[in-house]
Amino acid sequence: VTNVAELIHCAHALVGGRERRDYAFAVRDATIADAGDFAVVRARYNDVPVRAFPEDRLIIPGFINGHSHAYQILLRGWADDRSFERWRDNALYRVIPRLTADDVYWVFVVAFSEMLAAGITSVVEFFYLNGSGNAHAEAAIRASEDTGIRLVLARACMDAPTAPEAFRETASDAAEHTRELRLRHPNVQICIAPHSLHGASEAMLRTAAAFVEEEECDLHIHVAEAPYEAALSNERFGVSPVLALERFGVLSERAVAIHAIHLSEAEKDVLARRRVRVVTNPATNLYLGDGVTDVVGMRERGIAVGLGTDADLKPSILDEMRTAAYLQKLRNSNGAALDAGTAFLMGTKEGAAVAGVPAGDLATGMAADFIILDRREIDPWSPSINAVVYRAERSWVREAFVGGRKVYDGASSALEIEARKQAAIIAARLNF
Ligand SMILES: [Zn+2]
Repeated sequence: VTNVAELIHCAHALVGGRERRDYAFAVRDATIADAGDFAVVRARYNDVPVRAFPEDRLIIPGFINGHSHAYQILLRGWADDRSFERWRDNALYRVIPRLTADDVYWVFVVAFSEMLAAGITSVVEFFYLNGSGNAHAEAAIRASEDTGIRLVLARACMDAPTAPEAFRETASDAAEHTRELRLRHPNVQICIAPHSLHGASEAMLRTAAAFVEEEECDLHIHVAEAPYEAALSNERFGVSPVLALERFGVLSERAVAIHAIHLSEAEKDVLARRRVRVVTNPATNLYLGDGVTDVVGMRERGIAVGLGTDADLKPSILDEMRTAAYLQKLRNSNGAALDAGTAFLMGTKEGAAVAGVPAGDLATGMAADFIILDRREIDPWSPSINAVVYRAERSWVREAFVGGRKVYDGASSALEIEARKQAAIIAARLNF
């Protein structure tokens, strides 16, 4: 039974949210083929090379970033401290439509490199620069391949007259282009992402819902990030946002609702009944003043909730786990509202289920996506999981592996250094 390439021996690991000593897993075809106590696993594969991580290292699953717009790193600094509308219309919509496919490549290399250095091994990119076809999306995919991050490309569809021309497609073009991209990249998870109730028409939403049925893929959509969406939905459709989406066939177990902040209790019940998954983006919601997702209420209803870095001000699921826990404690005036173990789960296993990637735990059958933390930073009396959620910094991340392959070794790659130079040139050219 040894087409196993390697055994990973961990003096310390977090598995299923629990501390394990002398844990090992076998990597075959980029997947964890076997796992358990080192002595037991070693006996089954005694001629396979061992990669050992000693006492001062903690091995944990790579983090799952459930929602990102990587090009928004170009907005950092100069577009800060605005209302959501002014941030969107005068910064986001002014800059992103002017990016060439080459620009997208370099900017995405920078963002993906930052994510890997922060321990993020999977990212769902909600990608909306598609108005001219797939050239820009191809550049984003190339950036994921060259950096080694696991990519889910949620190909956005927009046809609202308020959206920039460079983002807009007809519903049939959007479906056709998404289908083409899926055929060209069978190894990348590509799903469809009608932007939102305000960015996509009813026709676009219905087309996307039909696409999901035909292609058996996921659907990502922004839902109720800001209060105005409820007013808009009531005016246009006579019902609340979630009921409108339900009417258009968008809500199913294949749907992922991004944000889901300004919802009634009845709307949350509908999301639960339709088995919709949710991604919350705590740091971005704070930065833009959006509001706070009722994560506790969602999870009590059985809704799976993942975490996203959205505006990528500082793409770090370490930060998002911590912020999610703090916000829920504050929202509920209860320090027990969301604990470290739950936050960690949202950043790993539950987040992976939401993103639809077979990762998030160091268990048999999972992708071999894992990161190596400096365990010397953890107080000897502290459970590791609490240290990771409440205290960990990006500097604790020493290495990252995706599919068993090392994609981050603690330093910037030559590609990342070049990409940062290019990003500075792009920023100067765009002349914010
Ligand atoms: Zn978003």
